[in-house]
Amino acid sequence: MSQPLTGGCQCGSVRYEVPAEMATAAKCHCRECQKATGTGALTAAVYPEGDVKVMGETKTYKYTADSGNEVTHQFCPNCGSRLFLKSPSGLPGLTLVLAGSLDDSSTVKPQFVVFASRRPAWDNDDPSVPHHAGMPTG
Ligand SMILES: [Zn+2]
Ligand SMILES: [Zn+2]
Repeated sequence: MSQPLTGGCQCGSVRYEVPAEMATAAKCHCRECQKATGTGALTAAVYPEGDVKVMGETKTYKYTADSGNEVTHQFCPNCGSRLFLKSPSGLPGLTLVLAGSLDDSSTVKPQFVVFASRRPAWDNDDPSVPHHAGMPTG
């Protein structure tokens, strides 16, 4: 058994623990993810909901994605770091952990890229993984 991974927000008020083995990891270039992170993409480690143990208070921000699915971001109310996102209709039973919040994110390897058509020229991806212009269905 590998040691669990730990992570948290920038100020340390919110900490979390997840298993070393993630279901998958992905990178999304949609405009919502760009606005949420202030960067060219949101890179996330994907876990079954119950695998993410959160210590500390988070606030939530809800929005409706282009797909029509409601997405909830969880963030630290003190420093504003985005930490997790969920979408019960779009990604049932899963929690996406924003990869940069992990204390050691070296094991995160995005397996695919979504909304590649929105990628800004200054944010490059690994060309060897599948790229989807939008959100793949099914
Ligand atoms: Zn914080
Ligand atoms: Zn996105």
